[in-house]
Amino acid sequence: MLPTSLDEAVEALGASPAAVPVAGGTDLMEAVNAGRLRPGALVGLGRITELRGWRYEDGGTAVLGAGLTLARMDRPDFAALIPALADAARTAGPPQTRNVGTLGGNIATAAATGDTLPVLAALEAVATLARAPRAGDSGTREVPVSHLLTGVDPMRPGELLSWVRVPLLHAPQVFLKATGRSGPSRAVASVALVLDPARRAVRCAVGAVAPVPLRPLEAEAWVAGCVDWDARGEEGAQAIDPAAAAAFGEYVAAACVPDAYGADASSALLAEGPTAAAVRLRRTVAVLARRALGRALK
Ligand SMILES: Cc1cc2nc3c(=O)[nH]c(=O)nc-3n(C[C@H](O)[C@H](O)[C@H](O)COP(=O)(O)OP(=O)(O)OC[C@H]3O[C@@H](n4cnc5c(N)ncnc54)[C@H](O)[C@@H]3O)c2cc1C
Repeated sequence: MLPTSLDEAVEALGASPAAVPVAGGTDLMEAVNAGRLRPGALVGLGRITELRGWRYEDGGTAVLGAGLTLARMDRPDFAALIPALADAARTAGPPQTRNVGTLGGNIATAAATGDTLPVLAALEAVATLARAPRAGDSGTREVPVSHLLTGVDPMRPGELLSWVRVPLLHAPQVFLKATGRSGPSRAVASVALVLDPARRAVRCAVGAVAPVPLRPLEAEAWVAGCVDWDARGEEGAQAIDPAAAAAFGEYVAAACVPDAYGADASSALLAEGPTAAAVRLRRTVAVLARRALGRALK
């Protein structure tokens, strides 16, 4: 099935419970080829042009179509709007994957290494889910992306991710990713950090170290109190003490990487402190978080 509108797509999904939506196919076809998925039917989303762009909404929000490709998000006009999301899209796989892989597919797959996910968590983005309307029910609902990812409020059968609402903060935001090798590859750890000067807040999410992006809320609140918000952006002024930025990195790493990281739960070694894998990963996360904060406050 190749619908040309969102309404047709949700109708097709509603009419055929065995049908699965497919956008760029970069994750789905890999699962089919590996024998992990045998969809009864496919609903192709590639012809739904309304989902391939974005628009502005009153109240300082960008509404992003689920069909936006990763390559499109890396273009300068989009990067000027939501720089951290553009940075994440730029690093998500090789060019041929980014040319067809979509924002909606990245969210729906919900891989631990999904690069857009920590950015959406830090931005507190909200997803619109659509399905065929029933009597007394419009067929759409809004769910924070983090609730979708954690399973607090998962996508239901027959639902399609249509839009992602992202608040426009008009302030620096950074995405940094560490990989095990050079060239495009999956994250070992990633950090998204956004400043929200209106609320004098720092928001941060760590990706790839757990099944879902993690928000180190206490570290965020602590570091927001260390930032000289009035000095930020002034020529020659220092918005944060380098020691506080380094401590923030350590705080984030300790909050997101447990002592037992990489260990068998029954391991007797746990009583002796963090595993070697935890120490290594914490070092990586601490560096990413410190650098991300430093770049955002430059
Ligand atoms: C070689 C390679 C390297 C990669 N490297 C990275 C990487 O470094 N970082 C990274 O983040 N990702 C990476 N990926 C993964 C992939 O490209 C992304 O997850 C991509 O964003 C998926 O989008 P898609 O449109 O191809 O999804 P599809 O494969 O079409 O769909 C994926 C899943 O999402 C569902 N789906 C798709 N759209 C919707 C929708 N609108 N509503 C509801 N459900 C939907 C499908 O049913 C399916 O279950 C890589 C993939 C490959 C093949």
